[in-house]
Amino acid sequence: MEQKAHILIVEDEQKIRTALTDFLEFHGFKVTKAVDGLEAERTVAKRRFDLILLDLMLPKISGEQLCTRWRRDGMQTPIIMLTAKGQQKEKVMGLNLGADDYITKPFSLEELLARIKAVLRRIDPARAVGQTFKFADLDVDIAALKIKRTPSCPSPVPAVPCGQTQVQAGAAEQIEITKREAAIIQYFAANPNRVISREELYKEVWDETMSELGTRTTDMHIAKLRSKIEKNSADPQIIKTVRGAGYKYEPR
Ligand code: CA
Repeated sequence: MEQKAHILIVEDEQKIRTALTDFLEFHGFKVTKAVDGLEAERTVAKRRFDLILLDLMLPKISGEQLCTRWRRDGMQTPIIMLTAKGQQKEKVMGLNLGADDYITKPFSLEELLARIKAVLRRIDPARAVGQTFKFADLDVDIAALKIKRTPSCPSPVPAVPCGQTQVQAGAAEQIEITKREAAIIQYFAANPNRVISREELYKEVWDETMSELGTRTTDMHIAKLRSKIEKNSADPQIIKTVRGAGYKYEPR
């Protein structure tokens, strides 16, 4: 099942709001709209978005104020600020306030789309929970390029209660990964339960169009990564093969 990224558009000018909505929906995003700062604040309080397009000059509560409040409250949703020409000072402020990017009006929709994709690609699951994140039974530390596998509890009844320090049997296994492998893991982690084709993976991780070389490169990297993280790489359980379609990560 494909998951659409959900974008909140906060823009008081109806023309721009409509144009943005039509364009983003056409490009496969799910869109919610807010016409002023107050509505934006209420909407964000109710649900989570993958990205927010935030106009700087808004009635009721300004984009600047919203951004400051959200960041102060710990909201980590990426924000792209929409600023008008000549708001140089505000632009810089927008970034200091915690916006991830900004774009100056009038902008081309294609440029905005490129920015949105870049910001969405940059978001990694590590961001949400700090330095490390869970990938199946692994703890992935992207910054250190290290993976830790915490040994699972012996079953059915552990002699020592699970979670207690067990020196002999319980030493965590350390696995080192390359940057590329980290990028692959991040992409799977951000897209759980979805079949990802080699084309898609190659495009997202290597940023290139699929070719014969690309197919080999992808397969080689997946094989290498599996040899590191799977208990039995002949029967992968973390990054599964979906015959004729690609790969799938199913968190347990
Ligand atoms: Ca405005």
